[in-house]
Formats: sequence, structure tokens, C-alpha cells
Amino acid sequence: MEDSQKIATLLAERQNIEREIAKIQQLCHHPSTSIKFVRERLDSTIMVVRHTCDECSSIVGIPNTNDLENFLKK
Ligand SMILES: [Zn+2]
Repeated sequence: MEDSQKIATLLAERQNIEREIAKIQQLCHHPSTSIKFVRERLDSTIMVVRHTCDECSSIVGIPNTNDLENFLKK
């Protein structure tokens, strides 16, 4: 397969996957959350600390200073 064709297929697949993830995340009620290091955005390599849902991995909030201190102490 030509690279350009391969890329087009992969991009389409990625779009489907992202849509699927978004659908699950929208339906999730985020019953429990943890503070974790996550990528700032899908296409980013910058790691940030966020409250994330244990079920669907959505970012549900930004930790305050207290949360951060407790997290970094562990
Ligand atoms: Zn969730």
C-alpha cells in the first residue's frame, strides 16, 4: 500500500476511535476519579496533572494546590 493511502486509512481509523471514545466519555457519569499525569492533549507530549475518571479516562478537573501537594508527596 502507498504511504499516502495508508495514512488516509489510519487517519480515518483514528477519527472513528476518537469518536467512539468521546461517545463513551459523554455517557460516563465519572463515578470515581483519581489524580494522574496525563498528556495535555491527544497530540501533545506535555504531561500535566489532572483529575481523571477511573472508568473512561476523561479529564474531569484541574487539581488545586492542596491536591497537587498531596499527589506529589506520594
Ligand atoms: Zn468517566
